[in-house]
Amino acid sequence: MSTAKGYAAPAAKAPLQPFTFERRAPLADDVSIDIHYCGVCHSDIHQARDEWGGSIFPMVPGHEVAGVVTAVGSNVSKFKVGDRVGVGCFVDSCTVCANRNEDLEQYMPGLVQTYNGRDAAGEPTMGGYSNHMVVKEGYVLSIPDNLPLDAAAPLLCAGITLYSPLKHWKAGPGKKVAIIGLGGLGHMGVKLAHAMGAEVTVLSQSLSKKADGERFGADHYYATSDPATFEKLQSEFDLIINTVGAAIDWNPYLQLLKIDGTMTVVGVPDAQVPSINPFVLIGSRRSLAGSMIGSIKETQEMLDFCGEHDIVADIEVIDIKDINAAFDRVVKSDVRFRFVIDMATL
Ligand code: NAP
Ligand code: ZN
Repeated sequence: MSTAKGYAAPAAKAPLQPFTFERRAPLADDVSIDIHYCGVCHSDIHQARDEWGGSIFPMVPGHEVAGVVTAVGSNVSKFKVGDRVGVGCFVDSCTVCANRNEDLEQYMPGLVQTYNGRDAAGEPTMGGYSNHMVVKEGYVLSIPDNLPLDAAAPLLCAGITLYSPLKHWKAGPGKKVAIIGLGGLGHMGVKLAHAMGAEVTVLSQSLSKKADGERFGADHYYATSDPATFEKLQSEFDLIINTVGAAIDWNPYLQLLKIDGTMTVVGVPDAQVPSINPFVLIGSRRSLAGSMIGSIKETQEMLDFCGEHDIVADIEVIDIKDINAAFDRVVKSDVRFRFVIDMATL
C-alpha cells in the first residue's frame, strides 16, 4: 500500500476538500504513475453531486489523467520508468464474457470505472484528482511525444468520446457533421471531425464562441437561440453529435438530418428529455443513437491520430484549491474549453 494525496467529495453536493487515502500495492502487471495533470469533465460534476444516483463517497473524481511512469511490475512489457502515459475512464473490464475480445469493453458489464467504481477486491476506485495511481498495464495509454501532457489530458475522455462515434458513423470527406454544444467534448469533436476531412458545423446556444469554433476547424457556426437556424438547416446533416448535458428537446435537431442521417447522443441530460415525435424519424429514415467513450485499442488509435495531426484540447490550467469554483463555472458553460488541474499544486 502507498499513501496518496488528493481532493475528494465527502458527500453528494458537498465541496471537494483535501483527502488522504491508500493506493493498493502494485502487482506484477501494474504500472505506477506520478499524475502531473487531470482534466475536469462534466461527468466528474454529475457524479460528485450524485446527479446520476448511486455515487460512492468519499469520491476522488478524475478520468482524464496524464502523468509519468515511476515503476513497473515484473510482467509489464509495454511501459518503462519515465514513459508519458494517460489513464481514461476505466481501469479494468470484463474477463469472462464472450464479447471481451471485440474491443468494446466499455460496453461490457464488468467495466471498472477509474473512480466511483469498485475494483476486483470490492474496494472503491479513486480517480485522478490525486498525486499518483496504480493501474493494470492493459488500461494504460501512451501519450505521443509531441503532445504536451496538460493539453493532452482531456483526450482521455473528451477526445475518445467524440473520436469513437465520428469513426463509427464514418465522418470524413463528403460528410456534413454537426456538433451540438461547444464545450469540453464539443470542441474536441470539431477538431477531430475537421481533421478527418468532414464539413463541420457548430450548433451553439449563441455566437459568443464563433471565432473559437472557426479556429478549431468549423466551416459553419449557428446559434440555436435563433429560430431561423432550424429553418435554414432542415435535412442538412449526415451526422449530428449531441454533447449537451441538459434536457433539451431533441426533435428540432433530428429534423436537421438528411434521409438516413444519424443523431448520436453523448451528453447525459440531467433530467428527462421531451418525448420523440416518431414522424421526425419515420419521415426520413433517420436514426437516434448513443455512444459511450471508446475501447482501450480505439483510445490509443485516437491518441496516435492526435499525435499525427497535432490535436490537443484548449485548456485553462488551474490550482487544485480552485476546483469547486471550476465545477461551478463548467455548469455555467463558462470555460474555454477544458479545465485541467496542475497536480504540482496539491
Ligand atoms: P461541458 O464542457 O459543460 O459542455 C457542454 C456544452 O453543452 C456547453 O458548453 C454548452 O455549449 C452546451 N449546453 C450546456 N447547457 C445547455 C443547455 N441548457 N442548452 C443547450 N446547450 C447547452 O460538458 P462536457 O464535459 O463536454 O460534457 C458534456 C456531457 O457529456 C455531460 O453530460 C457529460 O456527463 C457527458 N459525457 C458523456 C460521455 C460519454 O461517454 N457519452 C463522456 C464524457 C462526458 P454552448 O455554450 O456551445 O451552447
Ligand atoms: Zn469524462
